[in-house]
Amino acid sequence: MAADVSGEARIACLNHKGGVGKTTCAVNLAAGLAGAGARVLAVDVDPQAHLTASLGLAVPDGRGLAAVLDGGLPAGEALVGIDGLTVLPASSALAVTEIALSRRNTPPTLLRELLAGCGGFDVVLFDCPPHLGPLTRQALGAARGVLVPMTPDYLALQSLAWLMETLGATDGPAVRGIVLNRYSDRKRLHREVGSAVAGHFPGILFQTRIRENVALAEAPSHGRDIFRYAPGSAGAKDFAALCREVAKRFGLAGRART
Ligand code: ADP
Ligand code: MG
Repeated sequence: MAADVSGEARIACLNHKGGVGKTTCAVNLAAGLAGAGARVLAVDVDPQAHLTASLGLAVPDGRGLAAVLDGGLPAGEALVGIDGLTVLPASSALAVTEIALSRRNTPPTLLRELLAGCGGFDVVLFDCPPHLGPLTRQALGAARGVLVPMTPDYLALQSLAWLMETLGATDGPAVRGIVLNRYSDRKRLHREVGSAVAGHFPGILFQTRIRENVALAEAPSHGRDIFRYAPGSAGAKDFAALCREVAKRFGLAGRART
């Protein structure tokens, strides 16, 4: 029943805008899907290492994704288990790695090849940096679908149009989901942006909206996902609903109890 990393649900959380909720989605989807019984690997592809920090992890020198991409460390030895999840963590060393990837013109299949030996996962989530540079290209090379978190404002809508066009012009994975984050039903602008996204990209926008919720902002400072930090919060409810939609859309029913 389990897929390995060559299976279907390899999802890159991607948006070239920063601060839109990529890491929040990667952490809490990973935790929620793992809590529902899926075997989840979360890969931190951002030199800011926010996914790593959000889960209360730190990477010692010579370990983490930088060491794997630099060629010294087998991916399997870089994995860390925490709270039912498996994490390939990152550190700021990844910034130097990214320069090396660019200088050597490394093919975007390197990460996929390096992860090929790490089998047994139903879901692999990649938390991307806020640009379409060499690290994001590695994540896209390893992923089979893209999930785009966005904030519900006009400029974000413009950026989304550019991102969809740019990704559509490559032979990389398709955008399989858009998530509106920091959404309020009471704000007309948010409703209008939601309608515009649904109209332009039918079937891609998730019905679940993630509301602004302070517990989601607090959880990383406690090194915990939202389900462990504040299980009764609006953030936990919204992410539980999003996990159900993601599991359905990516064919995880049966692997995640939703
Ligand atoms: P990105 O990874 O796209 O840069 P983050 O997930 O790190 O974005 O989110 C940016 C900041 O906003 C973080 O401090 C995060 O905790 C906070 N945040 C994200 N989503 C929400 C939300 N729905 N409610 C409250 N705070 C949020
Ligand atoms: Mg981030």
